Amino acid sequence: MNWFDSHCHLKGFKNKGNLKEILWRAEENGVSRMTAVGTSNDDWEIYKNLSEQYREKIFYSVGLHPCYVNEGYESVIEKIESYLGSGSPPVAIGEIGLDYFHLPKNHNEALSIIKNQKIAFLEQLKIAAQYNLPTIVHSRNAFSDCIAIIEQSGLPWEKVLFHCFSEGVEEIKELNDRGGYASFTGIITFKKNEFLREALQVQGIAKLILETDSPYLSPEPKRGKENEPSYLPFIGEFLSGYLEVPVGELAQQSYCNASKFYGLELDYFDGKQSGE
Ligand SMILES: [Zn+2]
Repeated sequence: MNWFDSHCHLKGFKNKGNLKEILWRAEENGVSRMTAVGTSNDDWEIYKNLSEQYREKIFYSVGLHPCYVNEGYESVIEKIESYLGSGSPPVAIGEIGLDYFHLPKNHNEALSIIKNQKIAFLEQLKIAAQYNLPTIVHSRNAFSDCIAIIEQSGLPWEKVLFHCFSEGVEEIKELNDRGGYASFTGIITFKKNEFLREALQVQGIAKLILETDSPYLSPEPKRGKENEPSYLPFIGEFLSGYLEVPVGELAQQSYCNASKFYGLELDYFDGKQSGE
């Protein structure tokens, strides 16, 4: 069984010195592909290097996360294009978007941050549209504004993935109608999050994409611990029980969907990798 962790952050593990161990455990648990998702120019280079070191296993994206849209963000965004033309280009732009959850209490400060987040989001979407790249969207308490800005950018909806989907049925219908995707993290295993399980069912298994968002959001039964890519199968196993679908089918479907979304060749047939 092979799994694709479509969204994780590996910089913390690298800094702590346990990345090798983390990657070994992922491999042991069948997580054979992952996308290391960029958040600022502090991690892009690290992820590019990892993608070169672990070809066909680690892929990466570049993007300025809305919570890192600080003074001077324009020059950070300008650096994105140098990665796109490089020998080891990213598979996606992201994570980019809007975050209205972590805003300062001061109203005027909040407004000015929102304004900058919107500009940064649109600028990066335009780069994605220009290069026709898949895009990982971070939306926190900002769903309708995200939709509006994506519409404005001209990026085709089949290139859009709302990561860590945390909205309900109505919102996922809006995404589906446009042709976009949502991916789900371990929070779908939490008892109180029935609304997410309903949203996932509305999107359907045919579009299933899973992610850990490591080191955050550990699924049950690892809740409260630091998350890592090797925990992805816990999400799959939980959903297998919930949806009454064999776990192998969920692994294959989500692996294929993530590969397809990121424009990667499929190396996965009937639970075996070709060329082995
Ligand atoms: Zn993330």
